[in-house]
Amino acid sequence: MREPTFAGLVSRWYEHNARDLPWRKPDVSPWAILVSEVMLQQTPVVRVLPAWQAWLDRWPTPAALAQDSPAEAIRMWGRLGYPRRAVRLRDCAVAIVERHGGAVPDRLEQLLALPGVGTYTARAVAAFAYGQRHPVVDTNVRRVVCRAVAGEPDAGPATRPADLVATEELLPVEPAAAALASAAIMELGAVICTARSPRCPACPVESICAWRASGQVAPAGPTRRPQRYAGTDRQVRGLLLGVLREATGPVPHQRLDQVWDDDVQRARALAGLVTDGLVEPVGEASFRLIGDGPPAPVPG
Ligand code: SF4
Repeated sequence: MREPTFAGLVSRWYEHNARDLPWRKPDVSPWAILVSEVMLQQTPVVRVLPAWQAWLDRWPTPAALAQDSPAEAIRMWGRLGYPRRAVRLRDCAVAIVERHGGAVPDRLEQLLALPGVGTYTARAVAAFAYGQRHPVVDTNVRRVVCRAVAGEPDAGPATRPADLVATEELLPVEPAAAALASAAIMELGAVICTARSPRCPACPVESICAWRASGQVAPAGPTRRPQRYAGTDRQVRGLLLGVLREATGPVPHQRLDQVWDDDVQRARALAGLVTDGLVEPVGEASFRLIGDGPPAPVPG
């Protein structure tokens, strides 16, 4: 009898234990999967769930989003964080319409060429939307592979080519099985083999895990502290964007001045929003979300 493989064990576990997430349902469109993958980067599932549904209710296809303004994309993004993703997702929708007739492409090189679609997202869409065989490597996958195969507690800094090779070696040859295994390894890292407290007794690969076999030597480095938010430029940017999202027209400088007392920090945050293409000046003394209305007159 053949020994169970890593992918086989994880996939079987996944089939019985995967979280019931809407973007995993069989009839979900490639566009809906692409949107989920962009939203899930840097944002927890629980916050993505309502935002993903609202986004797709409003823009069920790339063509629908491409017809709307970047300002509306930023408004719909709400408080998901890292709002440049909203603008890049709209840029991506425009490119899908212009280059692919409105259908999310299925070839990896075409996906990689889309705005805002990087190594991870392109492979995730190719695997999860089109059932192709590609290593899909996020932080969770890197950690699982590092522990289970190399016996190291933490994956350390990302080494993209090596990570892709190490993960690909674990995948079954058959594309659909490989895509299933990719989703399964990711889920294992998210809910069982977590960074801080892996639940090895509940893990489907405990019997063949190299780190478990080595006696689980704890990571040597200090535990990462959560990032501070209060008082940072990120907080000020969020407050400024909050005012601009609520507004129906250009917002005078004086109104934005009220969100934060520190003039230098507020000016820096506002300049950052302009540089990042999220906000644009209107005339000499007002601002609005990018593309929120007819082209702004050029100052001066
Ligand atoms: S046995 Fe423990 S360390 Fe190994 S993959 Fe499973 S949860 Fe992670």
